[in-house]
Amino acid sequence: MKNKNLPVKNEADSLCLSTEQIINYSENLVIAADREVIERHLEQCALCTEALQGAFQIPGRQRKQNLINEIKANIRHKIRTPSTSHRSWKLVSVATGLLLLLTTSSIFYFYSQHPQKQDLADKFFTPYSNIVPITRGEQPLDDLQSAMQAYEFGRYDIALAGLKKVVANNSENFTAHFYAAICLIALKQPAPAIDHLKQLVAAENHAFQQPTLWYLALSHLKLNDIQKAKQILQQIVKQDGFYQKKSKELLSQLEIE
Ligand SMILES: [Zn+2]
Repeated sequence: MKNKNLPVKNEADSLCLSTEQIINYSENLVIAADREVIERHLEQCALCTEALQGAFQIPGRQRKQNLINEIKANIRHKIRTPSTSHRSWKLVSVATGLLLLLTTSSIFYFYSQHPQKQDLADKFFTPYSNIVPITRGEQPLDDLQSAMQAYEFGRYDIALAGLKKVVANNSENFTAHFYAAICLIALKQPAPAIDHLKQLVAAENHAFQQPTLWYLALSHLKLNDIQKAKQILQQIVKQDGFYQKKSKELLSQLEIE
């Protein structure tokens, strides 16, 4: 608990950004000189970049702080064997780089071959960050936490099974509905994803209003219902939130004949 705000060592064994620095940067509250130092660090640190992306995506200092600590704890958890961590992290970075290169070039190839509008849904889809706090090592995880742990590791099939169980026990667990939808989109099943997202559209008492519309638009697009997708995207654009810019960008690509 007491160490949570302190910088952590990263794989290159240099000090990472503090939670405070990441939050301030995400809220544009750092002076020019600090900004330069922070940006130089971000260029070479995947951990801080991930934490910053998380901070950009959710509002409120307290929630940002929880999320960043969660991400850092995750990484600490993954690199807790110090003798091999340095090398394996290097391998992971190289592998990620290669994968990214492959993905980028295959997307490019794919688009040059099949310029279909519904394929834009995959291009614009990124899974939403996990906002469910997972406490490790103290008590056993509950069903939602276990599912979200699988989600964090990109095991959407396992996460989905767990989230369905949570929803079966409590149909008003909107967090579970939301992440079940994200899993389904990741697993290329947009129709059942829409069913979960509709539960959120109908309800008001949850924190996923904007992302719900965004993922709903992507699901309709994936099903080739371009008109419905455009209609939702226009609704997001009017609301002036985090997904406004992405929605404008997607709308403009949908206009191209
Ligand atoms: Zn770092």
